[in-house]
Amino acid sequence: MRDTTTLYQHGTLAMLVGGLFEGTLPLGELMEHGDTGIGTADCLDGEMVIVDGQAFKVQGSGDVIPLTPETKVPFAAVHFMDAQEHRSVVGMTDEQLKQQLLGELKMDNVFVGLRIDGTFTHMHTRAVNKQNRPFPNLTAATRVQPEFEQDQVSGTVVGYYAPHLFQGATVGGFHWHFLSSQKDFGGHILDFTIDQAEVSAQVLENLVQHLPVKNTEFREKQLDLQTMNDDINEAEN
Ligand SMILES: [Zn+2]
Repeated sequence: MRDTTTLYQHGTLAMLVGGLFEGTLPLGELMEHGDTGIGTADCLDGEMVIVDGQAFKVQGSGDVIPLTPETKVPFAAVHFMDAQEHRSVVGMTDEQLKQQLLGELKMDNVFVGLRIDGTFTHMHTRAVNKQNRPFPNLTAATRVQPEFEQDQVSGTVVGYYAPHLFQGATVGGFHWHFLSSQKDFGGHILDFTIDQAEVSAQVLENLVQHLPVKNTEFREKQLDLQTMNDDINEAEN
């Protein structure tokens, strides 16, 4: 069923913070729950972007690789795109856009799927490097992260706004990834300036939180909530 009201998430950010980077759900199964989304691949190998039912990862090298349905993911969120809200935006930074959306859409306490299609005067991203066992924790894994920048690039931003209440399950606030139209540049977004773009927003009523219950490492892991927030803020911002 194509349920357009639900955000489906596999794994939690807290698991990544604790160094659980092993892929635990095949993309094919994840994408039964959505055609649009973000995440990371097995062994924290890059920043994943799913647009129009096609999944790609932007690796630490900067290379953009199409993913097969067999690729396993440790942490990802998807939804079926059916945005209620559309607006044309000209000459705006990501911070200005965030303030406008928060102010106008009353979205502080809801999950929102976001997609921006257009041309960007500037796009600044980063992409995490694939990790090897024994896995470090997320903070150590993301301490050195290649960054990428392009000017006058066209492409698509995909991501979510999540209420801060859910920090830990996911990233509280905005979390979005970029994929260029040429599919040769992208990553986890640090900042951008829109030249001209169409912004689509979709308020999602339900959160389905799927967990890797058959993964022994996950079942045995003691997650440290005391330090989690500091670690998330260091790794994700
Ligand atoms: Zn990200």
